Amino acid sequence: MSRLSFDIVILGGGINGSLLALNLKQKAPKLNILIIEKQAVFSDKIGESTSDVSSVFLNRLGIDHLLVKHARKNGLRFLFLENNKRLEFASPSQKSIANGYHFDRKVLDTDLLAECKKKGISVWQPAEIKQLDIQKDNNQIKVLKDSQTIEITAKWFIDVSGRFRFLQKKLNIENIPLQLNTGAVATHFNNIPANQSWDTPEHPLWTERCIGSQDYSTIHFMRKGCWWWFIKINENRASIGMVYNKEVIPSSEAKTYFLKQIKEDPVISKALQNAIPNKINHIENLPYMVRQYHYKNTALLGDSGAFVDPLFSPGLDFVCQQNEYLSNLLIDYFKTGKKNKRKWGKYNRIIFKANKDRVYIYKQIYSYTHSYDLFSNIAEYIFLGYQTFSVLPLRYFPKRMSKISTLNFITQPITQLYFLRLRVLLKKREKKNKTSFALPQPVRFSRVGMPLGIKLFTKPFDLFWAWLKDFILLNIG
Ligand SMILES: Cc1cc2nc3c(=O)[nH]c(=O)nc-3n(C[C@H](O)[C@H](O)[C@H](O)COP(=O)(O)OP(=O)(O)OC[C@H]3O[C@@H](n4cnc5c(N)ncnc54)[C@H](O)[C@@H]3O)c2cc1C
Repeated sequence: MSRLSFDIVILGGGINGSLLALNLKQKAPKLNILIIEKQAVFSDKIGESTSDVSSVFLNRLGIDHLLVKHARKNGLRFLFLENNKRLEFASPSQKSIANGYHFDRKVLDTDLLAECKKKGISVWQPAEIKQLDIQKDNNQIKVLKDSQTIEITAKWFIDVSGRFRFLQKKLNIENIPLQLNTGAVATHFNNIPANQSWDTPEHPLWTERCIGSQDYSTIHFMRKGCWWWFIKINENRASIGMVYNKEVIPSSEAKTYFLKQIKEDPVISKALQNAIPNKINHIENLPYMVRQYHYKNTALLGDSGAFVDPLFSPGLDFVCQQNEYLSNLLIDYFKTGKKNKRKWGKYNRIIFKANKDRVYIYKQIYSYTHSYDLFSNIAEYIFLGYQTFSVLPLRYFPKRMSKISTLNFITQPITQLYFLRLRVLLKKREKKNKTSFALPQPVRFSRVGMPLGIKLFTKPFDLFWAWLKDFILLNIG
């Protein structure tokens, strides 16, 4: 039995494990890091659409040669169907320092691990953890690799095992109860028809200002009690999935409902005509979160500790920010030789609060997924908060990457009041048997993205005005 020691052992060689290793290595090249990945070859993964914050993070890692293999994301589109009428709320992306991607995750995750090796990070793949004995400053780990058991020590052990949640299971950490009650059904389709065969013609805004065609925006089909994503990976292949509210669509019926809608929904059926699905995955319990995100010299990153919801594609954004925060704390540990209790305590409070806030917001949103005018206003509200507090500051203050937004004593009551008011408006509509009232035009635009240029400072005001104007109209309608 051989013995080795590492500064940091990362469990999980998916996107978040590799990105953590690359970020740490960029900040502290002397760190001795090992990634343990159990799959010899990655299979298809979901989580393909990125948003602005994660794009800025990725751009800083010097991995452009890997990113260029993937499609650029050209914005967001939300397609509604009310009384058989197609309605759309869209956000084309302008050229910016933060244009997102539609990743082929199998390719990206494989490339990222190879990049880690190139940068001097040890990668054991396939390898499996047999035993973890958590000890302050000196975790003892037994790993099975090439039919051999290798005993290693690690000052830090970071769990990035995704939904496998290694540490949570090992330490019997309980999930906290959540109000959000959702599940997801997802697959990849090959042989997808060209967008022109089912889509509306491209609005001049896309051709004049956007970085590319509307086909490569992250498309959402918005329906009652559920929403669908349609993420085109390339001309032939797309990732399709449905997230459903279990209070509207019972878990036991979700897969059947998914398959039925693919045949019967007037828009989805056309978008997938003759397309061939791969294996269909059903995630019955989508959101979860724990209370504690570090124990002694171990920490949980990303989905190994919490996952809330994929609407607006915030997954990678959140983990990249957590990655930056965690990396800074780990580097501080290696500089000072001790774990600063105050800093780690604050980190835990922020991650916990950020996840709880997101659970609250998503819980509200699921009542409005079918309403064009109410949902569009919520989207504008979210864009306003996201661009103003998360994206825009990054343009000027790169260190704010680790600043994870939470609702504070001002934004929390405003958000609560806002959703209370929306509830009243929804009830009014329901009484009159309507989903939307004021429908000024069938397609509306809101610009997201962080454009290069002088209009940058006016962005929050633009977004605030767009949201407020529509909110007033909703109340009059
Ligand atoms: C329905 C849905 C839709 C989503 N959509 C988006 C989106 O559009 N955009 C976005 O940014 N995010 C999205 N996400 C989130 C995104 O998919 C995840 O955040 C991301 O894939 C997690 O990456 P990861 O590296 O943490 O985990 P994974 O990709 O799951 O990687 C974990 C790795 O750990 C390895 N592993 C596990 N256990 C062990 C072990 N014991 N020993 C060794 N290795 C182990 C696994 O083999 C795996 O390779 C979505 C998530 C869901 C559920």
